[in-house]
Amino acid sequence: MTESNIIVIGGGAAGLIACAFAARHCRQVILVEKNKILGKKLRITGKGRCNITNAAEIDEFFKNIPTNPKFLYSALYSFTNDDIIDLLKRLGVETKTERGGRIFPVSDNAGDVADALSGFALKKNVKLIHDEAAGLLKSNGRVDGVILKNGRKLYGKVILAAGGTSYPLTGSDGSGFRIAAEAGHTITQLKPSLIPVITSEKWACALAGLSLKNVVLSVYKAGEGGTSKKKKCIFSELGEMLFTHYGVSGPLVLSASAHMRGDLEYVMTIDLKPGLSIEKLNARILRDFEDELNKDVLNGLDKLLPKALIPIVLKLSGIDERKKIHSITKEERMRLSEVIKGLTLTPIGFRPISEAIVTSGGVCVNEINPSTMESKLLKGLYFAGEIIDVDAYTGGFNLQIAWSTGYLAGMNASGAF
Ligand SMILES: Cc1cc2nc3c(=O)[nH]c(=O)nc-3n(C[C@H](O)[C@H](O)[C@H](O)COP(=O)(O)OP(=O)(O)OC[C@H]3O[C@@H](n4cnc5c(N)ncnc54)[C@H](O)[C@@H]3O)c2cc1C
Repeated sequence: MTESNIIVIGGGAAGLIACAFAARHCRQVILVEKNKILGKKLRITGKGRCNITNAAEIDEFFKNIPTNPKFLYSALYSFTNDDIIDLLKRLGVETKTERGGRIFPVSDNAGDVADALSGFALKKNVKLIHDEAAGLLKSNGRVDGVILKNGRKLYGKVILAAGGTSYPLTGSDGSGFRIAAEAGHTITQLKPSLIPVITSEKWACALAGLSLKNVVLSVYKAGEGGTSKKKKCIFSELGEMLFTHYGVSGPLVLSASAHMRGDLEYVMTIDLKPGLSIEKLNARILRDFEDELNKDVLNGLDKLLPKALIPIVLKLSGIDERKKIHSITKEERMRLSEVIKGLTLTPIGFRPISEAIVTSGGVCVNEINPSTMESKLLKGLYFAGEIIDVDAYTGGFNLQIAWSTGYLAGMNASGAF
């Protein structure tokens, strides 16, 4: 049992785990959270269902972490997906596995996860202060404590788990980055990840509100100079997406965006009928047309496509929507099939970082000891969660990063190892 206090800044996913494990081995832990409730972001994760982690082998996790995966080696092996599942089970939250290994609470209620972990964190020797941390107290290359917004000083080691800068209304407004920077840490460029995509096509915006299920979204690195000539495929998945007033969003698009790094020289294609080869689709259209020979082509595709999409698909195929079905040529039908199998969109930007599911960028990993989460610049300062320059794809990987780094920070700050 260490005598010195530990102050955890942030009662989110990482801070709650850090607090709970620190309190096991330390006389007093102070949790500073500026929101009135703990785990505010946690409560809206996974559309309110909380995708807690992923059932994949830990080795697979690294493939789902595009930014600084190696830094997380110790953390992910010290507190694994099985560890968080077991912990939640002990706390009364049973879990289930869904498509893609995604783990959710059986209740489908993210609030159950947040409540269980808040209860777990608030042990007898944990004092909760609802206030905002304004900065760190430092002397001789070490951290002595925290200064709160109201001027009050708290003394002890510090675990900074203040999150990123996305969804600021949940509390993660980027103040953690400022505190870390003032302490001398480098903050790498902050960018949105898992973010809706703005596209140049006006027709996409006109379809705002239309959602597509069971389509395949693919992203290709564009040809030289961002031309639409396709290059390497960097993402291709089956799932759901939707059109918005600025372009596209939904699960497939968010996942795709995390693969679109750097400049936006990409092309997106939507396969509206992934279950049919182009030949089968062509035959299917021919069959559908046979029953409707005297109709305008605009009214002959209802069985195949959502109504709102039909005039757009026809226009992109170069077919006059008022043309009678009996006069549609073989070439026109082939072009139609090609458009249905590869509706092309041109990304021109991302929505603002405040709308991102995660912040990419953060405290530079070269300045943090990956085995302890302690700052290499200031003794007694630890980091956990999204504030660190790591981020992952969808599937529960981002929360696992928060659990694993929170655990390492809590255990090491309290001297448990
Ligand atoms: C809509 C949405 C859905 C998501 N769904 C999933 C999902 O299903 N699965 C998944 O793996 N990931 C998901 N994520 C990502 C995941 O929620 C985050 O990666 C994770 O919450 C990061 O945890 P954290 O503890 O580092 O930060 P946060 O959860 O953001 O917690 C930081 C806490 O610090 C507090 N704080 C900040 N600054 C201060 C300060 N100066 N003083 C005091 N307190 C402060 C904040 O109020 C906040 O409570 C989702 C994110 C969003 C936005």
